[in-house]
Amino acid sequence: MFGIGLGNLVRIGLRVSDHILRQQEIEQSRARAESARLEAEASRERTTKENSIYRRTLLEDQIARDSVAVECPNCGATGNRIRRDSTGFCEYCGTAIQVSSGGIAYIADPIEKVRAKAEEDIRLKTGGVTDDQN
Ligand SMILES: [Zn+2]
Repeated sequence: MFGIGLGNLVRIGLRVSDHILRQQEIEQSRARAESARLEAEASRERTTKENSIYRRTLLEDQIARDSVAVECPNCGATGNRIRRDSTGFCEYCGTAIQVSSGGIAYIADPIEKVRAKAEEDIRLKTGGVTDDQN
């Protein structure tokens, strides 16, 4: 103790407080980096969600453009809209209606009915959007 003068004690004290200040700066910059990382992550999630909504809207627009009003060949209902060159189901009697590229509606054959039903189940499950649609 006797060998250390007041001047030395002050210098040691300054060095200790300097060290504490540096530690605080490091922690603050770490916190800033972490919050920037979280913000970037949230922004990426927002973009993904927006893209998904946008793709869904595009798909709905395309379906509306490609679809034609058809008369159900089974019950005669006229309220169904089905895409050309695809198979849909009558909203009233559930009949599978196949529509040609020329817009002609006829009762789908049993194999086409099963295929269209499976496709519709997938569409309902995924909300019409799959990951490979970019
Ligand atoms: Zn029908």
